Amino acid sequence: MPLYDYKCTDGHRFEELVSGKNVDTISCIVDGCSCIANRSTVYAVTTVGPVFDALDSYNAALLSPQQRAAGVELKTGSQIRAMEESLNLRPLDMRSREAKVKLEDQMDDHQSIRNVALQDGKHAAADYIHKTEVQAKTGWGDVSYANWKRGHDAAIDAVKRGDVDTSSANERGAAPKSPTGGT
Ligand SMILES: [Zn+2]
Repeated sequence: MPLYDYKCTDGHRFEELVSGKNVDTISCIVDGCSCIANRSTVYAVTTVGPVFDALDSYNAALLSPQQRAAGVELKTGSQIRAMEESLNLRPLDMRSREAKVKLEDQMDDHQSIRNVALQDGKHAAADYIHKTEVQAKTGWGDVSYANWKRGHDAAIDAVKRGDVDTSSANERGAAPKSPTGGT
């Protein structure tokens, strides 16, 4: 569902995300104004990070699974803005430099993942996403990540080969059993 730009007969301008078939006119959202507002332009997106273009995406991103299970649903732009505020999310002015940089970063990330998937397959793309997530959380550079990944992979391989006995780890929390059959 697109975000529309409205102008009421009293001259108020506002944006609203509207669902339904007839979105050409809605009532003005400005407090104390009861004029009819006419749709003027359509915005693809007005918030950055992550970029949404559908109401479903907002609901998925802003509501907890518990809220969704309880039937809570965001239906309008003002509800979404209120929810974003309560979650301390800050919409960015799309004309600002900050918004431009964020958007470009996201496009770059998206493109990079796509390129890796095309060149080296889905498995490599998954590794790439994992790498960027770990780096974003730890602040590691490529070298630190590579060092950590080597140790991580070696440990996984050792477990797969059976070099490491994980039976005691798997049984943690279960009834105590002596692997050596001792006392
Ligand atoms: Zn108005």
